[in-house]
Amino acid sequence: MPRAAGGRDAGTRFTHDPTTGTSAEVRRVQPYEARKTYRCPGCNQEIAEGVAHVVVVPLGEPGERRHWHHGCWAHRSGRPPGR
Ligand SMILES: [Zn+2]
Repeated sequence: MPRAAGGRDAGTRFTHDPTTGTSAEVRRVQPYEARKTYRCPGCNQEIAEGVAHVVVVPLGEPGERRHWHHGCWAHRSGRPPGR
């Protein structure tokens, strides 16, 4: 387990992305920025338009960005996505 990166309220930070196994940039998306419906890889449910969430972009792979619910992202380490 890496040292906990959570708890800070920074807008952007880097963390370990369990879906790719690499470092990733994490950015908060505000409700007014969420203009599309996204699929959350944590729960496989949709993130509705206008809902604040987080976007995770693997370092060096901007095309692989993923959108997560805040709750799903916060709990990802205790409940890894099934494979
Ligand atoms: Zn979710």
